[in-house]
Amino acid sequence: MFVCSECESAQFLQIVESAIEFDTAGIRSIDESYQCTFCGERGRYTDDGDAESVSGSIRRRNSQPRTTGQHASAGDRPAE
Ligand SMILES: [Zn+2]
Repeated sequence: MFVCSECESAQFLQIVESAIEFDTAGIRSIDESYQCTFCGERGRYTDDGDAESVSGSIRRRNSQPRTTGQHASAGDRPAE
């Protein structure tokens, strides 16, 4: 689940586009666009099966507070 990084809330966040591809093993890729209906910010979440990516003005609800040098993984980096 995601929250709007501007409002710090998931309350106004809604999926405006969603594309999920399946193969015989299950979900193959996910591509979802979110928009905050309160402030209008948008964000995007993709998962191509190997790596997840979150970009724009959303972030994971349960993500740790951003600290330098800890748990840095390529797929979890905010794209500015
Ligand atoms: Zn917002």
